[in-house]
Amino acid sequence: MQYKKLGNTNLNVSQLSYGASPLGSVFRNISEKEGIRTVHTAVDHGINLIDVSPYYGLTVAETVLGKALKSIPRDKYILSSKAGRYGSEFADFDFSAKRIRQSVHESLARLGTDYLDILFLHDIEFASFEQIFSEALPCLHELKKEGLIRYVGVTGYPINVFQESLNSGLDIDCILTYCRYALHDTALSSIIPALKDKGVGIINASPTAMGMLTQRGAPDWHPASEQFRKAAEKAIALCNNYGIDITGLALQFATSHDDITSTLVGTANPDNILKNIAWLEQPLNLDLASQVKSIFMGVDCTWDSGYPENQD
Ligand code: NAD
Repeated sequence: MQYKKLGNTNLNVSQLSYGASPLGSVFRNISEKEGIRTVHTAVDHGINLIDVSPYYGLTVAETVLGKALKSIPRDKYILSSKAGRYGSEFADFDFSAKRIRQSVHESLARLGTDYLDILFLHDIEFASFEQIFSEALPCLHELKKEGLIRYVGVTGYPINVFQESLNSGLDIDCILTYCRYALHDTALSSIIPALKDKGVGIINASPTAMGMLTQRGAPDWHPASEQFRKAAEKAIALCNNYGIDITGLALQFATSHDDITSTLVGTANPDNILKNIAWLEQPLNLDLASQVKSIFMGVDCTWDSGYPENQD
């Protein structure tokens, strides 16, 4: 496993990181025991960055992760969680300073730790940027001074949220983006140089487009259009013809960008962790990757997320 410094932080993070949302049974109903074994497998094999949120499984993922982390020394992993998102409706977002503070204390209790390495504001396109930059981020900076969190960040789907974050001029240590640098969509590329220039660390989540580029396919709640689903089926079939698992190709593609510090993959299956690590050690099949990318060319693989004024 390779490790890289995350932007200007002092965090040396693994190239592959562990996304704990599946511990909240968001993709399928999981066994808690297997979920815990997955976390242990990840850490035992050198994955040191673990990401979660109170939103995943409506606190279940944090609770299961907390049980898994109990037996692991705190200096063996870098832990990020989030605040601001507590459901899928607009009414389930609350980026007020009061709620963020309460949320952090609740997350720490569930996770069984007294600090988070990173706290992200979760999906800021579901709020007014005015509130994010005048209330929420300043609250994160206070929590940082108090030692409850070490670094601050924002997450979101539209690339615009990262542009607005840079425009705000506020200190942001890292960002978490998802589904925007993968075989189906590389829109993140447009903002990478500006983030790098400011020393903002980049964590890229969902290299399989939240399960779309896997043999099992996307979960029911996936926001993809029919057009995107059809193209994904075609891409999976093409890879199968070559005897290559599209999930491996997707991981190798996403991790091949030098300026992306860590790629976050979710699973609640220990065997998948081992497979993912093994894929990382094999070279990307450039020819097949370009054939897959050409299947997605001209297909709208994006969706709206958040308020209309916050879209790209
Ligand atoms: P992902 O692309 O990592 O896909 C997860 C799916 O891939 C699951 O169904 C899993 O079972 C499957 N999978 C993983 N390894 C596999 C393998 N070897 N073989 C077959 N299938 C495999 O998408 P994700 O889980 O949505 O994203 C990863 C993590 O990133 C999340 O858990 C979360 O921590 C973070 N994330 C954050 C945000 C945000 O902040 N807004 C959004 C999305 C994801």
